[in-house]
Amino acid sequence: PLSKLSNVGTTIFSQMTQLANENEAINLSQGFPDFMPDSELLDHVSHFIQKGFNQYAPMGGMMPLKEEIARKIENSHGAIYHPDSEITVTAGGTQAIFTAIATFIKKDDEVIIFEPAYDCYEPTVELFGGIVKRFEMKAPDYEIDWNTVRGLVSDTTKMIILNNPNNPSGKILKENDLQELIKLVKDTSILILSDEVYENIVFDGKQHLSICQYPELKERSLLVASFGKLFHVTGWKTGYCAAPKNLTAEFRKVHQFNVFCVNTPIQLALAEYMKNEEHYSQLSSFFQEKRDFLRKGLAGTSFGLLDCEGTYFQALTFDKISDKNDFDFASELTVNQKVASVPFSSFYKNKINDHVIRLCFAKKQETLERAIENLSRL
Ligand code: GLN
Repeated sequence: PLSKLSNVGTTIFSQMTQLANENEAINLSQGFPDFMPDSELLDHVSHFIQKGFNQYAPMGGMMPLKEEIARKIENSHGAIYHPDSEITVTAGGTQAIFTAIATFIKKDDEVIIFEPAYDCYEPTVELFGGIVKRFEMKAPDYEIDWNTVRGLVSDTTKMIILNNPNNPSGKILKENDLQELIKLVKDTSILILSDEVYENIVFDGKQHLSICQYPELKERSLLVASFGKLFHVTGWKTGYCAAPKNLTAEFRKVHQFNVFCVNTPIQLALAEYMKNEEHYSQLSSFFQEKRDFLRKGLAGTSFGLLDCEGTYFQALTFDKISDKNDFDFASELTVNQKVASVPFSSFYKNKINDHVIRLCFAKKQETLERAIENLSRL
C-alpha cells in the first residue's frame, strides 16, 4: 500500500479550527492564545534580525538559549543538564517528540502510552514500525492504575510516553505515580519520553513533578518542553529536548537530518527574554484567573466541569444536554452556538465517547465572555 498511515486523517485541531473559521465561531478548540505575546520579547526578535543573526544556528541550538534552558531546569527542579551536550533546541514540542521516537523506535518495539493522549504520539510510533500498548485513563478522574500498566510491560517494551500535565484532561501526575513509575522501570532498559510542555501551567498551588527530579528516571528520559506554551508564541515553533548525553547524542543524529537547526534570531530573543525569571514565574496564576473565570461562567449551565489541575484546557461533560457522540456534539456546538471545542474521543484510539469536550481558555477576557454567553444559551 502507498500509505504508511492509512488510518490517519487530518488532525482534529486543524479540522475544528477550519470548522470554527467556516462558521465564524469562537475558536476554543486548537490550543493557542488569541492575545499578543509580550512586546519586549518581540523587540528582542527584531533586534537580533537587524543585528544580522539570520543564518543557520549550530545544529543543537544557540549556546545562550541552551544555557538559559539549563538554568531554568536547575532552578525549577534542581536537575543539571549540560547545555552543550544534553539540551537540543527543536522546532516545537512536536518535532522533539517525533525525533525522539524516530531515534529510538524500531520495528516491533513496544511503546506504552496513556490516553486520552495528544494525537501525535501514536502515528509517529506506527511510522517507525513500533507497536502501541495503551492504558486508557477514564472520566471523570483520569487516574492511572499502575497494576494494569505493569501488565502492559513486556521484554520488548522500549519506551513509555508521558504527558504531564496532561492534554486534554488537565490532570497532573502525583508523587505516587512517579514512585510507581520508578518501580516499573527499575532493572529494565525502558526509555521515557516525557512531554511536559504545560509544566509552567499548574493551578491551586499544586506542584508540577518533572521526570528530571528523580535521578532513576532522569537517566533514561527525554524531557520535552515548549516556548510556544511558555511565552504565548505557538507559531514560533520552538521548544527543546533535554536528555542525558548518551541519549542526546543519538537524538541529534536524527535531528540534524530532520530540521538540522531552528530559527536563529528567535533563539537569541528567547535567551535574552529568559534572563528575567519573572517572564515565566507568574504563568500559572495568569492562566488560573482565566480558568476560574471560565469555570465560574459555566457553573450555572448544564455542562459539567471536570477538574483542571494544569494546562490551558478545561474538560466539560455534556451528558445532561445531549446523548449525541462527542464529535457530533462538538460540531453542532460550533455551527449553532458558535463555540468550537475538541471532542475527547479524538484523544483515544478506540474513540471512547464519555460525552466530554475540551475548551481552550488561553484567550482574551472578551473571548471567554462571548463563549460563556453563547454556551449559557444551551
Ligand atoms: N497542542 C495544541 C492542542 O492540543 C495544538 C496542536 C496542534 O494544533 N497541532 O490543541
